[in-house]
Amino acid sequence: MADLEVLTYGFALTTDQGAFGYSTNSLLTVGNHRILVDTGPASRRTLLYRALQSKNLTPDDIDIVILTHLHWDHCQNTDLFRNARILLHPTEMDYSKNPNRHDYTVARYMADHISKMKLELVSDGDTVVDGVSIIDTPGHTKGHISVVVGKGDDTVLLAGDAMPDAGTVQRGMPYNIFWDVKDAKESVEKIVNSSKVFYPGHDRPFRLAGKEISYLHGPGHIEVFNSTEGGGTASLTFTVSATRKVNIDTVQKG
Ligand SMILES: [Zn+2]
Repeated sequence: MADLEVLTYGFALTTDQGAFGYSTNSLLTVGNHRILVDTGPASRRTLLYRALQSKNLTPDDIDIVILTHLHWDHCQNTDLFRNARILLHPTEMDYSKNPNRHDYTVARYMADHISKMKLELVSDGDTVVDGVSIIDTPGHTKGHISVVVGKGDDTVLLAGDAMPDAGTVQRGMPYNIFWDVKDAKESVEKIVNSSKVFYPGHDRPFRLAGKEISYLHGPGHIEVFNSTEGGGTASLTFTVSATRKVNIDTVQKG
């Protein structure tokens, strides 16, 4: 049976200084396999390394990396995992070379690097290891994938940005769509029909019962350390907003 842990929790902040977000990075252990789902942004490299170290692991112990998509906040640490097979949808690799003209989030340099690693192209229905499979969830980007994990009686879905937050359930679409609104809505429907437990790309894991969202674990707040003269900290509280404005006007394909 798969063991699933979050190494670094995803979040997304909307502030008076602009919006900002980091991805969820999860570690799946199945038999001898250690599978990392998304690798996160470079600014979290030390945090990721320490999270592995706390489990007596180094990046060399990871044998499979699954990238939900090639946005920088999900893939910038992929180069750390030299021994791993890197699993990615072929459409996403193509998309990284020719993204939507409004999608400045694609890490093309990392896509170039990954193409020199042990890249394996995967798509809907492919089995990664026993109990772990891929589903296509396009819309946020053109070749986005999510990961389905059988865990005891539950099916757990690692959604990436096809479902970036719990609010996606009420909204019926992610809050950021860089490729196609119709595809993104269909992907949410597909995800919700596939599972009751979700690991979103920028939120804490949650269970869905009807329309009821119950968070499972993860930080309820983050600390902000002021790095300029004067110091000081502030504590921010996460709230789920199903009414978060969807950013499609400027980024829709075209
Ligand atoms: Zn993204």
